[in-house]
Amino acid sequence: MDGPAPGMRHAGTDGVGSGGAGSGGAGSGGTRPEAAAPGPGQPAASPPAAIPGGVQPDDALLVLSGVGRRFPGGTRALSDIDLTVRRGEFLSLLGPSGCGKSTLLRLLAGLDRPSEGTLRRDAALAAGGMGFVFQEPTLMPWATALGNVRLPLRLAGIGRREGEARAAAALEAVGLGGFQRALPRELSGGMRMRVSIARALVTRPALLLMDEPFAALDEITRHRLNDDLLALWSETGVTVVFVTHSVFESVFLSTRILVMAAHPGRIVAELRPPPPPRPPGFRTSPGYAAHCAEAMAALERAMALPRMVLSRAAPPA
Ligand code: ADP
Repeated sequence: MDGPAPGMRHAGTDGVGSGGAGSGGAGSGGTRPEAAAPGPGQPAASPPAAIPGGVQPDDALLVLSGVGRRFPGGTRALSDIDLTVRRGEFLSLLGPSGCGKSTLLRLLAGLDRPSEGTLRRDAALAAGGMGFVFQEPTLMPWATALGNVRLPLRLAGIGRREGEARAAAALEAVGLGGFQRALPRELSGGMRMRVSIARALVTRPALLLMDEPFAALDEITRHRLNDDLLALWSETGVTVVFVTHSVFESVFLSTRILVMAAHPGRIVAELRPPPPPRPPGFRTSPGYAAHCAEAMAALERAMALPRMVLSRAAPPA
């Protein structure tokens, strides 16, 4: 990405978003939808098919093979995850509470390590190559919007003049150009989330990891932020992995959706909504409704799956 996010055009008020028609087929489900994906730098076994958005599947940022995560005490949060995150895609992880979405995101972020399997990262993710946005904006309450967005640049040793210029550009990109000097308490929930997104993007990361960023916002604000996030994604080319409970949000935003089931957390289906952009009227179109129905059915199937009986060492006699 070559500059701070130029995508979010709406200013500080968060109102109703846009809508348009969409169609296209969702992909097939399965417990190992990515089993044969090649790693970074490895040749694909067969000519790669383009995925929606024109990205080639061998353009991998992260490759997980047989990844599991077991916590002390025995909770098996994730099992047998095979997943390739491809450069430029908008990938959503959709599933009920407790299915391991946040645990998987933490593994992708390098904040936690797998108990089993391998996780390989592209070199682009090594130093400052990832940005994070959580459900809570986690802003410093005493610092201005500009100071909050500049923080990662300060931590990276970038001087005040360049840091402030980049932070100001990032705020402009998320529609908060006029709010540089505002403190977090002076901003609405949607505006605080915009500051959080600007802070995540100011380092120009290759990968943006978002953990239910809009779950606490009202529906109108959420729609507006969904619209603007898609504009930002399309204009910057940043790869996004987005955790959500919302079928509607996942279909609206994503080029690919992985549906997860719990106990243990695992990927059980892969869906491919029609690729963005979302033209006016999309949210009320039959095509969008059909894809939401498909994703809802996949989620219901995932939630109806029985707990897997996991092999354990036999207890001592
Ligand atoms: P989700 O994000 O889908 O709601 P999580 O990834 O937060 O799910 O959690 C998956 C499972 O792992 C849950 O059963 C949760 O209680 C458990 N879990 C998550 N973090 C820890 C931890 N640090 N220690 C023990 N269990 C954990």
